[in-house]
Amino acid sequence: MNSRTEDLKAEVVLPKAGITGLLVNNEWRTPAKGKTLDIENPSRREKLATIGASDADDVAAAVVAAKAAFPTWRRMASRARGALLMELGNRVTANAEEIARVLAAESGNALRTQSRPEVLGAAEVLRYYGGVVAEQKGETLPLGPGLFSYSTREPLGVVGAIIPWNSPVVLAAVKIGMALGTGNTLVLKPAEDAPLAVIKIAELATGLFPAGVFNLVTGTGIEAGAALSQNADVAKVSFTGSLEVGKLVAHAVADRIGRSTLELGGKSPCIVYPDAATPEYVDATVTGIINAMRFARQGQSCTAGSRLYVHKDVWDVVIPKLVAKVKKLKTGDSLDEANDIGAIISEERYTAVRDFIKEAVDSGAQVLTGTVPPPVEEAKGFFPEPVIFAGVDNSWRVCREEVFGPVLVAIPWTDEQEVIQWANDTVYGLAAYVFTNDITKALKATEQIDAGWLQVNRAGGQIPGMSYGGAKQSGIGAEYSIEGALEAYTARKSVTINV
Ligand code: NAD
Repeated sequence: MNSRTEDLKAEVVLPKAGITGLLVNNEWRTPAKGKTLDIENPSRREKLATIGASDADDVAAAVVAAKAAFPTWRRMASRARGALLMELGNRVTANAEEIARVLAAESGNALRTQSRPEVLGAAEVLRYYGGVVAEQKGETLPLGPGLFSYSTREPLGVVGAIIPWNSPVVLAAVKIGMALGTGNTLVLKPAEDAPLAVIKIAELATGLFPAGVFNLVTGTGIEAGAALSQNADVAKVSFTGSLEVGKLVAHAVADRIGRSTLELGGKSPCIVYPDAATPEYVDATVTGIINAMRFARQGQSCTAGSRLYVHKDVWDVVIPKLVAKVKKLKTGDSLDEANDIGAIISEERYTAVRDFIKEAVDSGAQVLTGTVPPPVEEAKGFFPEPVIFAGVDNSWRVCREEVFGPVLVAIPWTDEQEVIQWANDTVYGLAAYVFTNDITKALKATEQIDAGWLQVNRAGGQIPGMSYGGAKQSGIGAEYSIEGALEAYTARKSVTINV
């Protein structure tokens, strides 16, 4: 290891008390059976930390604590709960750099382009919910002479939240803000591949909320995740992750008529109209395509615009500029400020992404940039080179399945109705991107594309306050907004009085 690498390693401050991975009643515990999980740095393929791995008994203990804390927590004034969320947001901001470095090391997401902005965004989410949860209002209803009726928004009870590894800090903030802000108590399970930055946030929350209000369990999906989604005392599961696991969670919750919010995968289209490629706009459009594809996150984003449809008339203008710009992106160690792109999360995911690329190449796809990554035995870190394919159509596996890697397929179009039909030809419906300066075309496209979140001439991330959630098999429910929190984390209670 060279000295630069040693320096970068020294800059990562791992969780201390939280290294046990199990927070119950404001106490960090060691999982009962003493099981552990190793967390790897995917840029260097070396062990970063060993944490506790909870099983069903540990999860049950966390749920018991959350259930016991619920009656008092739900009665606290919502603005008082909000003040605690604000304080947590401020603590995250104050510790942002430390959390961001841990996040970059464990997730492989580049510090400058991804991990640092994610942590600052998470603090903003917590402060947003801290401010708006006082809006947990009901309605009054004039039912008729002498009848006064009103409704309140009641919290559900214990919320089990299960999150993935690709943006764990902001997703933890969303679940904490929505669940705790609305008066529920929480058991949060981060993903086994990237739990450390979430543990750092849990360390900042320890003792801030009353005992049992916020609990954390680390462990595998099969043991800890399944136990949480199956626990009869968990009133609601808020799940973010893959479609396959989302179905398992939905089934488990349905068995007890529980509630669930599901934020699942995507295969999002990105449509470029001719007028977005005029000399005045083409550079912004190309930047938008790259942002939409989330290349700087190794394409590991649920909202990645991984199917690019460029109008045939401007194909020769857009594609060469796109390829040239993508080639300039710098890939390498996620902690190095110089890099735009970091590493794929794990050996398993690296191999899966490699298989997608190899299969498309072997089937005759035209490679505009990139190459088949080396086999895992030869890879020093799980670094992908961004790949752009042409010469494929919507029927190819690479165009239908979520690659969750830096792989963009580009397809020319001529007919507006046909391209919209291609855009909708997927089981997913999470996001979509449209680039045009013609407002009529933009509105027609947004009206016809079945997706939960459409962006026109923009390809950024979620902003607190917007309702974000998937259509079709991309999920059920909306997050990031107060209305999403009220719909998904509370139930209406009606009171009718004969005056
Ligand atoms: P995953 O479904 O494999 O895992 C997600 C979480 O579920 C992890 O914490 C895991 O431990 C847990 N889990 C695994 N098996 C379980 C089981 N049987 N029961 C309960 N929990 C279980 O997903 P991933 O690979 O971590 O993340 C990538 C996926 O997440 C992609 O499909 C991506 O599109 C999706 N995602 C969606 C959004 C969104 O907002 N829609 C955001 C981020 C990621």
